[in-house]
Amino acid sequence: MIIAFDFDGTVVDSYSCMEEAFVRALEKRFRWLPGKRRLARLLTKLEMHFERPTYGRHSGRIKAPFFLRTKFSETWFVERARLTKVMDGAVDVIRTLQDEGHTVISFSAEDFIPGMKERRLKMSGLYDVFDDVIIFGGGRMTLEEAFGLVRDRYGMETLLWVDDKPWRFIGRGDEMTEYVWRYFPITARLLRDKGYVLHRIPHLHIIRDLWGVLDVVRNVSSRGSNR
Ligand SMILES: [Mg+2]
Repeated sequence: MIIAFDFDGTVVDSYSCMEEAFVRALEKRFRWLPGKRRLARLLTKLEMHFERPTYGRHSGRIKAPFFLRTKFSETWFVERARLTKVMDGAVDVIRTLQDEGHTVISFSAEDFIPGMKERRLKMSGLYDVFDDVIIFGGGRMTLEEAFGLVRDRYGMETLLWVDDKPWRFIGRGDEMTEYVWRYFPITARLLRDKGYVLHRIPHLHIIRDLWGVLDVVRNVSSRGSNR
């Protein structure tokens, strides 16, 4: 099987620390500025606004909000990476899957600064744990192209796609894809009253921690062998 993991909110918690990262970035770049805490809270709200669902297809090339297209944003991303925590069990789950013979890849969207996702993956220590790292968006590949790349490299076997933003699954993948919503409270809230859109996702599994992926692998394998 191929297991593809999203990054933010899936294998790392880079959300709980967002506001603190803004405070630190403001301290570094705008030391003279009063009310940094309040501004950091506001910037966090704005950032989360851009994290909201965009249903259906889009090019994967989302324009960055103004405050994430500056030197300041680079400082923020680095501070955020420093404060980011690898989710409980992430490394153990990836290694267990690899030991069982599965291909485990990192499959996530570029940050608004080119190269930043790779840099954050490396800072988290997870970059070298994965068998492969595929980053889409940010003017490189669209999500669809990235998915095609996974198929080109690893063939048409069952692919478990694990992501904390289930709306990303809608209209994507193929008949050999099993969709795994890694429920993460902060991003789950973005779904608000739009939970009904999840009915448009076939083969949707929901897990509340990463160890749940092992159960999904087992369920999907036993289902396959019963056919
Ligand atoms: Mg995510």
